[in-house]
Amino acid sequence: MTIELPIDIETVKGFLDNSEGEALYQYALQASPLGPCLEIGSYCGKSTIYIATACRKTDSVLYALDHHRGSEEHQPGEEYYDPDLYDEKDQVIDSFREFRRTITRAGLTDTVIPIIASTNIASKKWQTPLSMVFIDGGHSLEAALGDYRSWAGHIVKNGILAIHDIFTDPEEGGQAPYQVWKMACASGLFKEIEKVKSLGLLRRI
Ligand code: MG
Repeated sequence: MTIELPIDIETVKGFLDNSEGEALYQYALQASPLGPCLEIGSYCGKSTIYIATACRKTDSVLYALDHHRGSEEHQPGEEYYDPDLYDEKDQVIDSFREFRRTITRAGLTDTVIPIIASTNIASKKWQTPLSMVFIDGGHSLEAALGDYRSWAGHIVKNGILAIHDIFTDPEEGGQAPYQVWKMACASGLFKEIEKVKSLGLLRRI
């Protein structure tokens, strides 16, 4: 499958596999005529590019939610720390500069609406129905469950819930996204569609 993306995706920092990105694109293309999409955990904009390219085609929009201070694993000394994203002046991770650069380079500023906030505050008064929600935020159980509880209820009928980093084997990775996946499957609200590598896709019944 070849998708025409507006920039060379290999130049964008991130942890999304190309086949996972392509699946996000295809499902966003199907779902986004039903309403705006929302992703949680935009980081430097890799998944944003895939979803927003589909949204632009259907004249929809993508809300890209991230506090841009990095998850636990992005902090100095941790496994996925990237010194390029460290703001020396304020001594914090700031992935927003890189995110904005990505979206601007891709010409997607009229499709992507960045929300620089935590899930808790962004969802507090949220009322807009969503056609697709992609959960790829913090991977602690508290964070992953919080994202599911805050956003899954806003997905419209036939809309898509996508969850990244689902590992059934604890040797392969953290278990929080898998717990959320199981919870969604057991909720009676979603039907499993497919898994592409560690990306799980469900449809709102
Ligand atoms: Mg991820």
